[in-house]
Amino acid sequence: MEDLLNNNENLYNSLEFLSDIGVPYILIDSNDCIKAVTSAAVEMFTNVYMDKNINAISSKFDDILWFIKKNFLLFKNSTEDSCAFQKIVKINNIKWKFNCNFIRTEPDLILIINYHLEKDEYIKKALLLTAIEESSENAIIGQDVDGTIVSWNTAAEKIYGYAPNEIIGKNLSILDSDKSGENIKNLLNNIKSGEEVKNYEVKRLCKNGEEVFLSSNVAPLKNYKGEVIGSCTISRDITETKKLTEKLYVSEKMFRNIYEQSPIGIELFDANGDVISANKSFCEMFKINSISDFKYDNFFDSPYIPEKTKNKIKNRQTSRITRRYTLKSNNSSLGIKDSSYYFDMLMTPIFNENGDTTSILTQIQDITRVKTVEKMVYNFTNLSDDIFCILDLKWNFLNVSNGVESVLGWKMSEFIHKNIVNFLHVDDFDSTFNAINLLLKTGRITYRNRYICKSGKYKWIEWSSFVIDEDKVIYCIGRDITERMEREEELRKAKIAAEEASLAKSRFLANMSHEIRTPINGIMGMTELALMTDLTEEQSEYLNVVKTSSQHLLDIINDVLDIAKIESGKFKLDLTPFYLEETINTLVNNFSILSKKKYLEFISFVDPSLTKDCLIGDPLKLNQILMNLLTNALKFTERGSIIFCAKRVSCSEGKVNVQFSVSDTGIGIPADKMDRLFKNFSQVDDSYTKKYGGTGLGLAICKHLVSMMNGNIWVTSKEDQGSCFYFTVEFSLVNKNQYISNDNDLDVPTITYPDPIDTKESIYNKTVLVADDNEINQRFICTLLEKKGYRYLSAYNGSDAIKLFSENEVDFILMDIQMPKLNGLNATKIIRDRESKTGKHTPIIAMTAYAMTGDKEKFLSSGMDDYIAKPINFQSLYDLIDKYLS
Ligand code: ADP
Repeated sequence: MEDLLNNNENLYNSLEFLSDIGVPYILIDSNDCIKAVTSAAVEMFTNVYMDKNINAISSKFDDILWFIKKNFLLFKNSTEDSCAFQKIVKINNIKWKFNCNFIRTEPDLILIINYHLEKDEYIKKALLLTAIEESSENAIIGQDVDGTIVSWNTAAEKIYGYAPNEIIGKNLSILDSDKSGENIKNLLNNIKSGEEVKNYEVKRLCKNGEEVFLSSNVAPLKNYKGEVIGSCTISRDITETKKLTEKLYVSEKMFRNIYEQSPIGIELFDANGDVISANKSFCEMFKINSISDFKYDNFFDSPYIPEKTKNKIKNRQTSRITRRYTLKSNNSSLGIKDSSYYFDMLMTPIFNENGDTTSILTQIQDITRVKTVEKMVYNFTNLSDDIFCILDLKWNFLNVSNGVESVLGWKMSEFIHKNIVNFLHVDDFDSTFNAINLLLKTGRITYRNRYICKSGKYKWIEWSSFVIDEDKVIYCIGRDITERMEREEELRKAKIAAEEASLAKSRFLANMSHEIRTPINGIMGMTELALMTDLTEEQSEYLNVVKTSSQHLLDIINDVLDIAKIESGKFKLDLTPFYLEETINTLVNNFSILSKKKYLEFISFVDPSLTKDCLIGDPLKLNQILMNLLTNALKFTERGSIIFCAKRVSCSEGKVNVQFSVSDTGIGIPADKMDRLFKNFSQVDDSYTKKYGGTGLGLAICKHLVSMMNGNIWVTSKEDQGSCFYFTVEFSLVNKNQYISNDNDLDVPTITYPDPIDTKESIYNKTVLVADDNEINQRFICTLLEKKGYRYLSAYNGSDAIKLFSENEVDFILMDIQMPKLNGLNATKIIRDRESKTGKHTPIIAMTAYAMTGDKEKFLSSGMDDYIAKPINFQSLYDLIDKYLS
């Protein structure tokens, strides 16, 4: 072989030949670089490449040829043509025995190496190679430069699902997840250029169509010339890791989002306290663009964090604090001072699995608004003199304001957690507990009670309380009303005194009226009688003046008494069925005559729809109103006309609303004096030189009467042009046929319709008993009876009346109420008692100067049948006798 190689001409041909027959050798040039290498040598050493400098081989770990380095240098520097040596090298537990020959072929050297493995070592090598490939968890795939798969290990089968016989001979692109195979082509191109691709992550396609993630290394395989003849791919299945990583990524992203978007300011420090990061909210809170703008970047150096907190963190504890910061601000809402902010800060050390602090988490909330509102509420409740308190549902004070101190003298701490019974006046227990129970039902209530002061005195407190269900507490605001209560008590006493005085006044007026009426009664009665006698014209004229003056005096007394009754609340309506037409007709007739006397035109219009109905109302009081208005119209009109009008305004549900008006063309009322009307004792002309008389009470009485009848009264007037007084009243409608009389029904007395047969003749021989202590009255009534042809008996007190009643056949009794010895009411009762044995019933008529409300009931309940007002009008007396005796 040496000869062969020494022949330079044939050297390279010979080398070609040696290579072909599998002899491993290396050709080293004069520069000590590998010039050529056979594939057998490459196979043996795998990493023997051309152009490698033998001197550059430094360590046996770098290069397998290290063991020839020494021998090479020896041989190179020798003059020998050849040299043989042997080396035994242990690689991966296999003992290799190398037989080496250097041959000098100027200018190059040839190293021929062969190896010999002992049987055991051979087996070991075989086993090692197979084991490496087969036992590997990694897919080991061998492919040629075009990508045709030539080797496929068990792990590859496991990962891809292809058995070796299914895949060997196929192209690698079959595994490309990108169906075009572009990725693999690119990879193979890189490999072709001799590049090794390390740790690249790639998605590959399995037999079942699923995709796997692999971490791969691809190393080119070269022949002895260093030409790439294929490559080896070693891949690790990282699908699970990848999924995990993806999950981690998603989770990390989520938490980062939360961190960034959280309205809570978050700042993170490492274990040494150096700031790591801060989120957006944190930067906004502290008015910085990023955490790097923050002046204090170490937790433990920050002057804003109290030492106590720092120590707590050092001791691995959590700390929560509220701090006030002064920062630049453009927010001045809520009256917040431009630069004052309150932050609630929670600082927590974070530990790793070994329990070591790895970081410090600071969470911050801007509570400026809460703090400001808190302060406002505190000021509002504590600077007020009212007591603000919160009670639980068992009436214990949970919180109270400063008011308890200013009002009651107690310290707030003396109130809190105490029950209200400790402070409440015993007499107010029941009312307070009832109020609170009601409060729980209604949600809101106002009540008063007495609370004891620290001094021992009691104060009246007025409470406004409310409950809010979800809070399960009672909110109360209490105000000291002691002074008000004292004033109210004084007022109450004054009111009682005034009422008593008013009552006394009414009583006085009633008595006075009785006392005045009695002599007027006499004057009028006697005048009436005198006018029935033969008189000269002059005498008759004088007596008529007496009669008119008496009537006028009586009217004034009636007005004064009406006002007294109104003021004492004793003025009541006397409801009775009546025909409006009848009431109006009499009135209109009288006023037509009176108007004529003054040369005034009197026009009346009555809505025809009003004339048919029977109404329930007080015709006497209606008459009183109309009389007053018509009298005024007549009084204040010198020429022109008076128009009376009555019309139905509305009618529904058994009620009829009637509007009356009286208009005149008289003196009118100046606009600035209108407000004087309808007031007691008020006249438009109140001068000493006034032309028209009157008391100024009429319209005030009318106003009261109208409002009692659910109506209104008003006036329109123009000075020197005239006035028009309007009023409305409400009546109930009653059907005449349906109306059933009931003697016991005092409010709705019997209506009697005129008897068509004249029975007067038959009653003239009846005996009337007159009981009256006033001699003039007695004489007047008896004369009236005598004039009509009645027999009469007279008594001056109740006892005499009973005596006469027992001794005579009496058909009719006129009984005065106030009489000496036995009054009219008791006398009536005795008579009725006696009659109860005989079954007889003699009509007894009460005679009274002026009936007060309730008097009529009193008369009727004592057994009387009716009453007649004094001064007695002779026609009324005759009508009454007719009614009971016919
Ligand atoms: P009196 O007529 O007794 O003074 P009234 O209460 O009836 O009391 O009237 C009060 C006042 O109202 C009268 O004094 C008069 O000044 C004014 N007044 C009432 N009716 C008329 C009217 N028709 N025309 C002008 N003035 C009137």
